[in-house]
Amino acid sequence: MKKSVKSITSPKRFIVGQHLLEDLSTYTSTYGNHAYVICDEFILDRAKKEAGNSFDEAGNQSEFVKFNYENTQEEIDKHTEGAKKAGANVIVGIGGGKTLDTAKATAYFSKLPVVIFPTIASTDAPCTALSVIYKGDGSFDRYLFLPSNPDVVLADSAILAAAPTRFFVAGIGDALATYFEARACYRKNGDNLVNLKPSLAGMGLANMCYETILEYGLQAKLAVDHGITTPAVENTIEATIYLSGVGAEAGGLAAAHAIHNGMTAVPSLHHAQHGEKVVFGLLTQLVLESAPQEEIEEVIYFIKEVGLPLTLKDLGLDEFREEEWRSVAEAACAEGDTMGNMPHPVTPDDVYQAIIAANALAEYYHDE
Ligand SMILES: [Zn+2]
Repeated sequence: MKKSVKSITSPKRFIVGQHLLEDLSTYTSTYGNHAYVICDEFILDRAKKEAGNSFDEAGNQSEFVKFNYENTQEEIDKHTEGAKKAGANVIVGIGGGKTLDTAKATAYFSKLPVVIFPTIASTDAPCTALSVIYKGDGSFDRYLFLPSNPDVVLADSAILAAAPTRFFVAGIGDALATYFEARACYRKNGDNLVNLKPSLAGMGLANMCYETILEYGLQAKLAVDHGITTPAVENTIEATIYLSGVGAEAGGLAAAHAIHNGMTAVPSLHHAQHGEKVVFGLLTQLVLESAPQEEIEEVIYFIKEVGLPLTLKDLGLDEFREEEWRSVAEAACAEGDTMGNMPHPVTPDDVYQAIIAANALAEYYHDE
């Protein structure tokens, strides 16, 4: 039965453009007249002023509350209680991935709609029906799978382009893997992120994601270096925030993210961004798939062009220790991780050898 059940899941609305913050009330008022806004500290005053005005002018109410740095159950409970006390009927999250995940979880426990406003474009977090919850000490607690995607995602290109280039480019790295992982999962008829089968629509969006970043990624990166936004920046944002998130959710993940997950255990890589590690996971996946040289070169030249880290050394690795990378490979093949979506069976030893081969390729092309 499940074999033939495919899906595409997505936010109800995805809006990309400039000056969305000062228009926030326009996008929340469909859902409610009293917004509870969970906001990163760095943008709290600006949001209160700009978005606050839009609520006042529309005759709507709003509460702005600072996000306390970590998406813990305690933080979620605090906001769920706060939203209830305030009598809010729509939740808004403004900030980085953890803030957005807190807003999604708060909306879920409050049974209210949620409007998501990312301030960095570094991951797929904004569009997905998932909240990653951490413990008070910063370690992973659990995944909270949500029954639906956010109601609205607002991608303000001026705000996203003003964030450090490294975050923007890390988002491109995460998006670079989307097509290849969806392709593997589709070939395998594996499970996508909502535990159903990859749909044609998911595959199509993943494909468009790859084509869009190849076409506009470099132009966008150069614009963001100058803190400005152009049509190329907005196209790239559409790819990194929408096409990548929705494409991965419907198309499924495979080796690249499984290897990334294994790599989180390597201490000297802790400063690498999610999307930066995913890029190395992708190179390893291409080796495992014995992808054509042409395809590998296209990916590697693009990685270099947008300034993503290519080799393990670029990622911050101090020294290659066999034992450490054997356990990365072991973790990447753990039961329930997405390595199972590769078209052929993959063992930890296959992954270990592919990691070495991928790094050798990366070193070869590094100074070319
Ligand atoms: Zn990712």
